[in-house]
Amino acid sequence: MESGLFVGPEAREVSMAQAKEIWVSKFGGTSLANARQIMKVKDIIFADARRKIVVVSAPGKEHKDDTKITDLLLNCHKLVEKGKPIDEPFSIIRRRILEIARALHVDEHRMTAELDAIFVRLPSEKTADYAGSRGEYLNGLMIAEHFGAAFIDAEDIVRLTKDGRVDEMTYEIAKRALASVDGRIVIPGFYGKGPDGKIKTFSRGGSDISGAIAARAIGADVYENWTDVSGIYIADPRVAKNAGPIAHITYREIRELATIGASVFHEDAIAPVRTVGIPINVRNTNDPSAPGTMITANRDVSACHLVGVSGKKPYRKVAFDKFMLDRYPEVTASIHEAIAKRNLASDLVVDAFDTIVAYIPTEMDDTEAAALQTALASELEIDACTVSEQLVLIGIVGEGISLEPNLLQAVAAKLAKLEVPGEVVSGPLSVKLLLAVPVAAYAATLNALVDLIVS
Ligand code: ASP
Repeated sequence: MESGLFVGPEAREVSMAQAKEIWVSKFGGTSLANARQIMKVKDIIFADARRKIVVVSAPGKEHKDDTKITDLLLNCHKLVEKGKPIDEPFSIIRRRILEIARALHVDEHRMTAELDAIFVRLPSEKTADYAGSRGEYLNGLMIAEHFGAAFIDAEDIVRLTKDGRVDEMTYEIAKRALASVDGRIVIPGFYGKGPDGKIKTFSRGGSDISGAIAARAIGADVYENWTDVSGIYIADPRVAKNAGPIAHITYREIRELATIGASVFHEDAIAPVRTVGIPINVRNTNDPSAPGTMITANRDVSACHLVGVSGKKPYRKVAFDKFMLDRYPEVTASIHEAIAKRNLASDLVVDAFDTIVAYIPTEMDDTEAAALQTALASELEIDACTVSEQLVLIGIVGEGISLEPNLLQAVAAKLAKLEVPGEVVSGPLSVKLLLAVPVAAYAATLNALVDLIVS
């Protein structure tokens, strides 16, 4: 069936050749933390023949105090680097993997042999990438066997550049491998091969990227991202009690929410599917009947002008004033140098004629902030420098923001009612209004803004 969702010629060609829909379904670590969870995943996969390609994370935390398999493997690597034995963390890995194998009726001897081989190779391979990747590899093997599916090693289809990005050649290689299998396929997420031919991982949470790669390579009709919450929430539900899941959000909105703190899925997982217009559906393994959140290129904004609010902290606002600053480009340059020299990144710089304001993500305490203010004021040819208290940047996001002409007024009224000294950092621009409020006022402000956008 032609879905009509594609914009890329490559994706169209694959879909028509296959003559039916293909979904790529990626499952995160908590969805695969133990055999019980993996059985839930199996039910989900087998409930729909379109779920042909399954991308898996390493077993995550079963209980709150557990350590993820990936972290245990990285601990092994740290011990190797110090020349110490890895027996202790590795025994936990072995126990958890074999427990899963046994409960899933997966060949235990084979898994023992795989574990033995990794145990031997960890001290000689000596890379965090190899160590970190083995959780996905082992889980992928077991899940493929349990599902009666083909196992395609990510090492054979995913190519990473030296700086850890997806090498474009990946799509062609992966397309060939994936299209050559008729039945279900399981692929371990999080890693591929670097330019030196060695295993290389993405940054943490990178199985989301692997899923997006598989989806783009095969020209999937949907990229499902299964996690432990029922989609992307309007705001962090741990802070905002009335925040529920968003039904429909665009790639652009999700990017805006993610840059200001919403931990949705890996930021780099959007690019591969966005370019070919494959919808992403974020869903909950523990509540498969919930529709989750649909992420697409466009949505009907008339139904919902604003989709979410997120916050990122702590920041300090550093303001530099100089009368007629725009006439002194060398002073502007020295301000940027003074920030860079202290290894302070400025996430956002707002330039006015006589003022430069930098929002700097930093954990520095008030004494350090006061010292920074004194140092900058004396070092630079400026009239004044101020460093604020700790702030949180809060973004209100929605492609329909221009349809809310009274938004600023409504936000100001909410802040005034809470007696929060907030200020507008930027916007409302095409998709976002960015505010700054003191860290202590974060929860109250977030709750008030969620009420504003759901009302
Ligand atoms: N297992 C890896 C991590 O814990 C990758 C992933 O789960 O996406 O970061």
